[in-house]
Amino acid sequence: MTTPAYQRILLKLSGEALMGDDAYGINPDVVSRIVGEVAEVARMGVQVGVVIGGGNIFRGMAGAASGMDRATADYMGMLATVMNAMALADAMRAAGVVARVQSALNIEQVVEPYIRGKAIRYLENGRVVIFGAGTGNPFFTTDTAAALRGAEIGAQIVLKATKVDGIYTADPKRDPNAERFSRISFDEAISRNLQVMDATAFALCRDQKLPLNVFSIFKPGALKRVVMGEDEGTLVYC
Ligand code: UDP
Repeated sequence: MTTPAYQRILLKLSGEALMGDDAYGINPDVVSRIVGEVAEVARMGVQVGVVIGGGNIFRGMAGAASGMDRATADYMGMLATVMNAMALADAMRAAGVVARVQSALNIEQVVEPYIRGKAIRYLENGRVVIFGAGTGNPFFTTDTAAALRGAEIGAQIVLKATKVDGIYTADPKRDPNAERFSRISFDEAISRNLQVMDATAFALCRDQKLPLNVFSIFKPGALKRVVMGEDEGTLVYC
């Protein structure tokens, strides 16, 4: 068997990925399918850190738009990511993968706090580490948390799982001539004004020379192909 291209990865899953075609919440079938994909790469010996979003439950921006104080709404969004992290860890347990949840907000009766050294030790021991509560700060996103945790744990790449299988020249749903980039540099993505991640997350990855691969978690085997270094999704490089 050929060896994986990456030994340690940071996988960013959006909250919306967990709801599948439902309008809200966590769809158990979808979660177990995603867990199957993650388990496959973990069993290959790849160390996996996961940052999970919360958009399937609550988004700070939506709360603020309906009149809530933005910071309060963002804290609610972060708590939503902790619920997703717990659901994901439990689905991993059911699939025979040992996962640990670490939260950027202290809720110690429920999940461990984020401790970088401990997270790295878990990874070295073959545990999947799921990082909840984003960065722990309002006005940020879980994309930024993915870039931050990815840099902190020394991941070789951030894998951003989306519904679309990569970055396109135009929206592939609207433009039949849209073409997928197999590879693109950070600088070119900026000059073409491609919306890959939010600006803070993108800048952090670029500054830390942390490559990024955007791919679809709904395409069976795609995560494994990315990890094997195959042409899957779009690689954003420095
Ligand atoms: N959030 C935050 N700080 C962070 C990460 C997340 O305040 O560092 C809040 C924010 O309100 C956001 C919500 O948590 O809308 C859920 O995260 P996100 O929207 O990034 O989730 P996704 O879109 O990936 O499901």
